[in-house]
Amino acid sequence: MMNRSEIARYARALRERLEGHRLAGWEPPLAAERIAPDLPAHTDHVQASPVTSSAPAETPRESGSSEKTLELLRGEVAGCSRCRLHEGRAQAVFGVGDPNARLMFVGEGPGSEEDRQGEPFVGPAGQLLDKIIVAMGLRRADVYIANVVKCRPPNNRNPRSDEMEACRGYLDQQIGRVAPEVIVALGTVAARALVGGELSMGKMRGRFHHYGEVPVMPTYHPAYLLRTPSEKRKVWEDIQQVMARLELGPDESPRSA
Ligand code: SF4
Repeated sequence: MMNRSEIARYARALRERLEGHRLAGWEPPLAAERIAPDLPAHTDHVQASPVTSSAPAETPRESGSSEKTLELLRGEVAGCSRCRLHEGRAQAVFGVGDPNARLMFVGEGPGSEEDRQGEPFVGPAGQLLDKIIVAMGLRRADVYIANVVKCRPPNNRNPRSDEMEACRGYLDQQIGRVAPEVIVALGTVAARALVGGELSMGKMRGRFHHYGEVPVMPTYHPAYLLRTPSEKRKVWEDIQQVMARLELGPDESPRSA
């Protein structure tokens, strides 16, 4: 007969398997059903002034200091004209989430809905990202979400290298202030920007890389998953590695990550 801890372990393994199946099938995962009703309003935080590209997360979490610095940087980004992308934007899209999050998601740049609302990942791809976050047992407000470039590239093209270089310092500062324990890079552009190299996503995903000392898990962008749902299983496998690194279990209460 199984003792209580064996039963708990078994239940957790079963739940993780179910979560994966449900995510892969685009059904609301168990955690989503439990948590989605009280998804909070998104909080946004921003900051100010660039540093060099491969700068690791530099700052320990002092109470309130990350939030304050991020707010200053948000103000700077709002008026930024360092690259041509400022010409076509409705507004700069800085970042959103917990300024002390343990987990950070980085995408490549805002799309039309993000440009309109001023918040990253709020269109269909953002809704899918929300499902992934909830499947991890977290809420959107528990993590921090940002992009490599803060202004929408025209016609949703990929950001160009000079644009990413111009904007890079903002992302470096965001990572430095949030000081996440793990970063998930969403899509090839974001992954290459964070870890360097020219590898395809197929070759990058499935293992941790590094931004400074911060582990980075590259995985497919949710927008790509909407077009190629057959890759959902791989994303869930990547996410499970992230959960293991953060010691998150799908049957745990939501907590800041
Ligand atoms: Fe400035 Fe970045 Fe916007 Fe370019 S994309 S204008 S560098 S905030």
